[in-house]
Amino acid sequence: MYGACTRANTDGLSFLRTHTGERSGRPRVSDALTTPIVCTSTYHFKDTEELIAYQEGRYGSFEYGRYGNPTTQACEEKIRQLEGGEAALLSASGMCTATTMLLALVPAGGHIVTTTDCYRRTRQFIQTFLPKMGISCTVLDPSDYVGLEKALKEHECSLYFSESPTNPYLRCVDIERIVSLCKPTGCLVCIDGTFATPCNSRALDFGADLVIHSASKFFGGHNDVLAGVIVGRKDAVDKVKQFHNILGGVIDPHAAYLVLRGLKTLALRVERHNDSAMKIAKFLEAHPKIERVHYPGLPSHPDHEIAKKYMKGFGGVVSFEVKGDLWQTAKFIDSCKLPYIAPSLGGVESLIEQPTVVSYWDQGPEKRAEIGIKDNLVRYSTGIEDYADIEADMAQALDCI
Ligand SMILES: *Cc1c(COP(=O)(O)O)cnc(C)c1O
Repeated sequence: MYGACTRANTDGLSFLRTHTGERSGRPRVSDALTTPIVCTSTYHFKDTEELIAYQEGRYGSFEYGRYGNPTTQACEEKIRQLEGGEAALLSASGMCTATTMLLALVPAGGHIVTTTDCYRRTRQFIQTFLPKMGISCTVLDPSDYVGLEKALKEHECSLYFSESPTNPYLRCVDIERIVSLCKPTGCLVCIDGTFATPCNSRALDFGADLVIHSASKFFGGHNDVLAGVIVGRKDAVDKVKQFHNILGGVIDPHAAYLVLRGLKTLALRVERHNDSAMKIAKFLEAHPKIERVHYPGLPSHPDHEIAKKYMKGFGGVVSFEVKGDLWQTAKFIDSCKLPYIAPSLGGVESLIEQPTVVSYWDQGPEKRAEIGIKDNLVRYSTGIEDYADIEADMAQALDCI
């Protein structure tokens, strides 16, 4: 009925986003229009014959809550079609998805390639936990393709993993170029597309093997749920699922429902996020109290050309540097009245944070300098408030410093 999503028809995805995964293939309860939240820890069988039929794939059902749930499955199907992947797997959080993926796809003693600008907890897992399994890592600048070639030659690399856009500097990677280097060596390419969403960029269309998302961000979209998802090649997702079934980071069906519900308005919300973020980035770049703006939609961004190639819109997050020190920057943040001071992004409410204070306070100035987190850096996640209100609030807060 819906056909495969191709990049050419992404404009028609809006309808897909609304109904796909729900209209067919899920249990029909009292003709309810919405997908029911199926609260069950286990599933029963009529008799042994039915159970054996299930085991042999002749009877489609579920067995136990850790291995699957109808609400979760409907949500996975929606995300699978949105990204144009072969399979999708939800889990309890974005970190759960990332860690399970790394553990499942990289063998002991293996090697991975990642990029510098990276979600802090993912970096921590790669640098502190994976070495315990003898897994080593090459960390590259997102635009270091020579370094990537070298790493692929010198190591047996199992996985290339990068966010695109990255956090917090919104660097973008040349997916096709990375795929052309990795594919011949058998190294899988996984992109964390949390900041992009499939509305702006579908990495699988450009040859990536896998995409992961923190569904706690734009997918859920309302700052009210934690979830993570991996989408892409069936053989790889199946491997992750096998491990997920053991590790047990299962999403609760209520949470899966909230993600499913959020996805119905994803396209509308992302349009507004893209629009407001682009406008505020331009406003800030022209403001005398701003040192620098990091937004891939601006020609001044180092990866603007790459972003133009891979993104339909440039996303809802803008990072920028205030002219001033840590405390002047904090004063600007405290003077903003519209956004909440909070970590996270991608929800209907605008959020503002100073990465130094919210994510790296324990690190001390030297360590922060080493990983490139500046004290005057601000990350703004535009919500869906009226743009005029966002700008007016930002302007008055800048007048306060
Ligand atoms: C938030 C985030 C994560 C972690 O996701 P959780 O759902 O909070 O566990 C991973 N990667 C990126 C890019 C994120 O923004």
